[in-house]
Amino acid sequence: MAKDYYELLGVHRNATEIEIKKAYRKLALKYHPDRNPGDKEAEEKFREITEAYQVLIDPQKRAQYDQFGRVFDDSSAGGDFSSTIFDDFFDDIFEGFFGFSRSGRRRERPTRGSDLEIDIEIEFEEAVFGVSKTIEISKEDVCSRCDGSGAEPGGKVTCPTCHGRGQFVQRQGFFTVSTTCHRCNGLGKIIKEVCKECNGKGVKYNKKSISVNIPPGVDNGMTLRVSGEGNSGRYGGPSGDLFVNIHVKPHKYFKRKGNDIYLDVPIPFTDAILGTKITIPTLKGEKELEIKPGTQPNDTIVLKGYGIPEVKGYGVGNMIVNLKVVLPKKLTKEEKKLITEFKRVSKNSYLKDDKNLWEKFKNFFKI
Ligand SMILES: [Zn+2]
Ligand SMILES: [Zn+2]
Repeated sequence: MAKDYYELLGVHRNATEIEIKKAYRKLALKYHPDRNPGDKEAEEKFREITEAYQVLIDPQKRAQYDQFGRVFDDSSAGGDFSSTIFDDFFDDIFEGFFGFSRSGRRRERPTRGSDLEIDIEIEFEEAVFGVSKTIEISKEDVCSRCDGSGAEPGGKVTCPTCHGRGQFVQRQGFFTVSTTCHRCNGLGKIIKEVCKECNGKGVKYNKKSISVNIPPGVDNGMTLRVSGEGNSGRYGGPSGDLFVNIHVKPHKYFKRKGNDIYLDVPIPFTDAILGTKITIPTLKGEKELEIKPGTQPNDTIVLKGYGIPEVKGYGVGNMIVNLKVVLPKKLTKEEKKLITEFKRVSKNSYLKDDKNLWEKFKNFFKI
């Protein structure tokens, strides 16, 4: 039976791209063949998690997998990881995150920084009209003193274990296996003196305040991308992006569906019968609304253009006012007298106003 890709990576089914990458990175580091030379179990595990990763990181393949439990175009999944395609794929992933390549020796080519993700909560009105928010993020910046190497300037010497080659090449049966030198991690050089600024980590976590412009019309669950505000790249590579997940607080009166706004308004039954003018809250401020005589329970009034602007583009939604006609549950003596009098005078004849309904029931209620 096929193994569950989500289980293999240890992520939940709604995991984001970032979570999937994180989980894969951790497992790939553990089971990578270079780290487990000759270990068949690790090799198989590595193949499995890589297959899972390749499917789950691709939105189309992931959707297919979620729906059918398998991927029909599996040209990249389950491939032989000694193939060139795989090497490129793996180099991409690993260099992006670790700055070293599968072939062992670190190639100091420009690499893009990783993405960051942050959640923010905004008010209903802020989502409607847009808002500029200052948020504080903790981001990874490359240490400027050592440029990410972790060594004091001039503090590196040739690795005595591999004599600067960065890897050892061994023959195992039919295969040539190259093992990364563990002493220098494939760099060919070791750090003799650790960078004073970052203590050898190569990066520093800096807090940064950035201003995010939230456009009018955003809705709960939307994600904004702020280009270039993710973690710093290395060796001149660009920074990653910052993804801002928007959470909108519910409003006291308004409910939102798409770009339309819904408002329930209580109307006394007498006002529904006689008609009146009421004042209601709208996104544009208070508005006077005419309630026509003969208003029925759940009648709606549509206020065109009183909804929410389309977040990307033109147009604006409507406001739908639901009139909730309220009937008294208890009557005083005098009220009862008046209602009884009304009944006597009207003889319930208004029941005939709804012709369809009346035709159905006229034999039952002989008025
Ligand atoms: Zn440093
Ligand atoms: Zn070495």
